[in-house]
Amino acid sequence: MTGTAAQGPRLRPTLDGIPTYKPGKPASADAYKLSSNENPYEPLPGVLDAAVAAAGSFNRYPDMASSELVAELAARFEVPLEHVVLGTGSVGVAQSLVLSTAGPGDEVIFAWRSFEAYPIITQVAGATPVPVPLTAGEEHDLDAMLAAITPRTRLIFVCNPNNPTGTVIHRAELERFLDAVPSDVLVVVDEAYIEFIRDERVPNGLDLYRGRPNVCVLRTFSKAYGLAGLRVGFAVAHEPVATALRKTAVPFGVSQLAQDAAVASLRAEDALLVRVEALVAERGRVAAALAAQGWELADTQANFVWLRLGERTLDFAAACAAAGVVVRPFPGEGVRVTIGEAAGNDIFLTTAETFRKSL
Ligand SMILES: *Cc1c(COP(=O)(O)O)cnc(C)c1O
Repeated sequence: MTGTAAQGPRLRPTLDGIPTYKPGKPASADAYKLSSNENPYEPLPGVLDAAVAAAGSFNRYPDMASSELVAELAARFEVPLEHVVLGTGSVGVAQSLVLSTAGPGDEVIFAWRSFEAYPIITQVAGATPVPVPLTAGEEHDLDAMLAAITPRTRLIFVCNPNNPTGTVIHRAELERFLDAVPSDVLVVVDEAYIEFIRDERVPNGLDLYRGRPNVCVLRTFSKAYGLAGLRVGFAVAHEPVATALRKTAVPFGVSQLAQDAAVASLRAEDALLVRVEALVAERGRVAAALAAQGWELADTQANFVWLRLGERTLDFAAACAAAGVVVRPFPGEGVRVTIGEAAGNDIFLTTAETFRKSL
């Protein structure tokens, strides 16, 4: 007992450099929350019923294999059952992917700015994040990402469309990239917003995964499907990656509520996709209005828009908050604004117009 009496538990030094995940700010009761890319619609009736029914059994552990949901997804995508791995949101699966491939001394490449969970989960695993700046057009710089590959690279995240810029990678570019990545490096195509894509040149990641053992696809029920609060997402991955994901996941992570609501959502897909279509139309309206105000926007294929405001970012976020909409600022860089209810979008547009004139 020398000199340790006053010390607390020793934590891994690597945690010192890790920011805690910043959620989109909660909105006060009278404000619109456009900060977390959520679906603004209430759950569909059938989906709510399924979740309520499952709640009656929450004294029991959930089905650890998520059998029904896995079967539903495997049939729909025409992939083997074993290739579908569920997790606590796609962030949960992404964390398992990193834990399965990378540890101290290993490197994980991603575009930057992109999804803020990537550097966090990389560092939690003890691995080294390798962020590669976006192009001037706010897109993935795939050539620079290829150039960043070293013998230590274990995983590359490709976010399509990219959060927070909404920009996409087209089929030919992505195929050329995948063909150039060494086959022992896992490429994770994160398609959290795929349902919002209307640009036909964007590939479906599942077509890229087929025939490429080092490619896996990440999807989520949190955005278009509106189940953000239930925490369920999945990967479609080849063996041995899929088995590794089952080893590194928290056991029983996906609740029965989440599993049953996800199955019900898939079965209610027609109704859900009508809502997605309305959000896509609303995105078009918002983007057109911003362009008419003089903003230069990169084309967004997701359920949000990105304004590169630089030093004015926090001022703009404050102006939005004062007007009654909560947006997502990335200080010094820009603001991401979710396409939500028309009334919230209108307040954002009015604020943007006033702000624009002050620039
Ligand atoms: C929102 C989001 C996710 C999904 O997160 P969940 O954990 O499934 O809620 C994954 N990737 C990106 C890029 C996202 O923006």
